[in-house]
Amino acid sequence: MAVDGTSGSGKSSTCRGVATRLGLRYLDTGAQFRAITWWMLREGVDVHDAEAVAARCDEAPIVSGTDPSGPTIEIDGVDVAVAIRSDEVTRHVSPVSTVPAVRARLLELQRAIIEDATTDGGIVVEGRDIGSVVWPQADVKLYLTADTEARALRRAAEQGGSDVAATAQVLAERDRIDSGRATAPLVRADGAVHVDTTPYSLEEVIDLVVGLVLEAGS
Ligand code: C5P
Repeated sequence: MAVDGTSGSGKSSTCRGVATRLGLRYLDTGAQFRAITWWMLREGVDVHDAEAVAARCDEAPIVSGTDPSGPTIEIDGVDVAVAIRSDEVTRHVSPVSTVPAVRARLLELQRAIIEDATTDGGIVVEGRDIGSVVWPQADVKLYLTADTEARALRRAAEQGGSDVAATAQVLAERDRIDSGRATAPLVRADGAVHVDTTPYSLEEVIDLVVGLVLEAGS
């Protein structure tokens, strides 16, 4: 299953819940973009210099663990699962993700993981361009959105009550860059089911999506 959508729309919690219920693997492609961003920042690369990012983006090996109950992410041998959620990485990830060489590198890695998992029970993959570019032939495609206000409230609560207005601004800015970039922008893929998660609880969204997957398989 391919799941795309705006930042903070509930993609990760939904995908992990669905994968756990259905015994599927889970790939968070956003974590891969965040890992490259973390590594660029560590190396002192100017993340707003697309050429500098492109020149170095193939250097560090990335390993994504696909167990939905404990997904892992390593770059250059370092476990960065916590570090990639920092404000600094969150603020810089969208510019890094616009660089075509970064996308090409991760596309290859993502397709290899999907192919491997498809012969081994299946996988739920989340991101921004999964149904449109990475895996257009997925059996179920989903496009998740939520009102900016609802997203900011959820995110701020996850981050221990940080400023809602500031959180909304960061989310809106990421959406703007992710939707406006030339290579693989965030779009609703052909055939994707759009779910606006604003009025639903997480359990309700998981139930709905599990229903869609079971329906597609019958
Ligand atoms: O999903 P998450 O919010 O962690 O993704 C972080 C960023 O990675 C997004 O804002 C986007 O810039 C980038 N991304 C992307 N394509 C994907 C997944 C994430 O460009 N498939």
